[in-house]
Amino acid sequence: MSNLQIIPPQSGSAFKLNKGQKLTVIDPEGQQVSDMVLFNTDDLREKLSSGKTLDFEASLLITKGHYLWSNRSRKMMHIIEDTNGRNDFLLAPCSIETFRILYNHKGDHPSCLNNLYTNLAPYGIGIDDIPTAFNLFMNVQFDTDGQLSVEPPSSRAGDYVTLKAEMDLLVCLTACSAEDSNGGKFKPIHYKIEYN
Ligand SMILES: [Zn+2]
Repeated sequence: MSNLQIIPPQSGSAFKLNKGQKLTVIDPEGQQVSDMVLFNTDDLREKLSSGKTLDFEASLLITKGHYLWSNRSRKMMHIIEDTNGRNDFLLAPCSIETFRILYNHKGDHPSCLNNLYTNLAPYGIGIDDIPTAFNLFMNVQFDTDGQLSVEPPSSRAGDYVTLKAEMDLLVCLTACSAEDSNGGKFKPIHYKIEYN
């Protein structure tokens, strides 16, 4: 059984996922990033860790077959399908400061950090508790000198990533709000949970 959920452009959604359940995150129109963070529902101080994941998986490019690891060196999710294959686990969620510092933006701007925080606050998560997100469909390129660049996603309409929970999880997903990460246009993100 599954039930399709829709995250409108420049927003987010938080929900629980039990051990063994599968989450599929879909890019319905193509070229749309979704930031994802994870917490252990039994102890919210245990959370997704970019550093542990890149270390244990020995790769900068996390995709099908890899695990997502916690700050306590335990497996949180297993990526069992990834039809696009390009995700980012280097960059922090976009925040109002991202737009001010990188893009000289004036005034307010929607951001993944704010959407993660406002959706997770009812569960007792503070803004400083939010880790580096696993950025589904995000296309960050790097050269041999270590120079980074954010390119439009290579994902096409209908591309998806399926992840299996390795522990009981609190999950938060966004539809990213950064112009440069999403090919200049903000689209929704869809997801579904398989209960069997
Ligand atoms: Zn973002």
